[in-house]
Amino acid sequence: MKYHLKKDLFEELLSLEKETSETWASSGKMGQCENWNAKTLTDKAWCVAENLKSTPYLSGQIISEKHGLTRDSLAVIYKMIQRSGACRTFFTESSNRDYFNVVNHYFNHRLYTLVFFVGTTCPSRCVYCPNVKVDNAGRRKLAGYGRKKDRLLSEAALEKVFGDLHTMKKKGTDILVKISGGLEPLTDIITMSAIIHQAKKYDIPVKLFTNGLLFSDSLRRTAALQTSDIRISLSTPDETQYQKICFSDSGRGKSRALAGLIKSIRELVAERDRSGSPCKIGFNSLVLPSNHTLLVPLLEMARDLGVDYVDFKPDYFSTYPQDTLEQMEDSVREARIVASHDSYKNLFVNFTCSLSRSDLFWNDWKGTCDALRQSEFKMFITPFGDCSPVHYGAFPHSARSVKGAVSAYSIGAVNPERSLFDVLRDPAKTPEIAMKKLNPFELMLSLEISREEQDKAFGLPLCVSPYHTREKARNPADLFFRLNITS
Ligand code: SF4
Repeated sequence: MKYHLKKDLFEELLSLEKETSETWASSGKMGQCENWNAKTLTDKAWCVAENLKSTPYLSGQIISEKHGLTRDSLAVIYKMIQRSGACRTFFTESSNRDYFNVVNHYFNHRLYTLVFFVGTTCPSRCVYCPNVKVDNAGRRKLAGYGRKKDRLLSEAALEKVFGDLHTMKKKGTDILVKISGGLEPLTDIITMSAIIHQAKKYDIPVKLFTNGLLFSDSLRRTAALQTSDIRISLSTPDETQYQKICFSDSGRGKSRALAGLIKSIRELVAERDRSGSPCKIGFNSLVLPSNHTLLVPLLEMARDLGVDYVDFKPDYFSTYPQDTLEQMEDSVREARIVASHDSYKNLFVNFTCSLSRSDLFWNDWKGTCDALRQSEFKMFITPFGDCSPVHYGAFPHSARSVKGAVSAYSIGAVNPERSLFDVLRDPAKTPEIAMKKLNPFELMLSLEISREEQDKAFGLPLCVSPYHTREKARNPADLFFRLNITS
């Protein structure tokens, strides 16, 4: 890999030199470039790529100090890395591949994600749910938004929001709409269907996140199959364990709830296949201390049900003793091996990087992030229209959530008079959120936003960013001026 990568970096250096040589010649400043040599530059580029692979969020200034590079030498090295296909593979196959994928989707390809939290209640009481609190008697209580008398998101408000999304789409931004929770979205099938209807009008893909319990109702299955992707939360193939995870520690919840869910999923898959709908169906599966020994049976169940994918994730809101973590990592390793078997070729199995505690998400992140900058990439809308750039600010924390955390992070509400663009143009406030309250995706977004800002301040233009492959053809005219390896 090292040889192949260095060779590719070296070839990119030669082609960069060729492309910019005309500008040099006309500038009359070629003499200033004599003190570099291609081998040293390639060796340094390899070291920088290795460094970015493990800590992709480091600013250019820190990288230049660590590697004894001037800012202008680093600009050339970043450009070599940006243009190198081998380097891209090196990054996207690393344990920080989620970071590089997020940067690619949101910064390279301009993706905007809008997440609607439509549910106002939930039939489940999951042990890991941020909306569930356990009382002194061990009973699980579900927090709601506490605003029952207020108007839910109306069709007129949705029309305005989708008008804005359509405008963004026409200008070249890819749009993804998610219907999620918050609380269980299938509890409000009317709002859900209105969102799907609007999205269809503008050919915008919709992903639905659900616990699937209400798929026992055929109307809800039919409505859900109008989306592009149904992601069902299911983390165990065992009935008793399902009861414990989703209802109560004693394991006494809804009788045969998992059996019912499996039956509904089977019907959902069959209806999808019969109708020829292109909708994907998959599982969102948390790896927990209680279920990690059953990941392989869960995969077998997914394969037998004919779903398309399983997405394994950690519970971001919890931490466990070291020996538990090691046992969980062993189980994930075993599941990875099983998933690579040929009999799973029709089932896409994804293990997010944050499953490993050595992933950057689990660092002890301090400080706060400017949530407003995140609203340029995504937004959460509560059932009452409040807009929050971060997940933490949109789900109900207590019965008085609207006056508490939700209003603290809301930057304004959409309604028939106020569009999404109005909220973005004139936000009510700039909410600051502690870095440790961000989910992994938000953390990566925040780190990359700040990396870009610092590089700009340091004098490294966006067109030399090591991750902005869309800028490959754009070279600063003075790229090789004052090139000097050591500072
Ligand atoms: S299904 Fe979702 S909203 Fe309902 S309790 Fe579980 S995690 Fe919470």
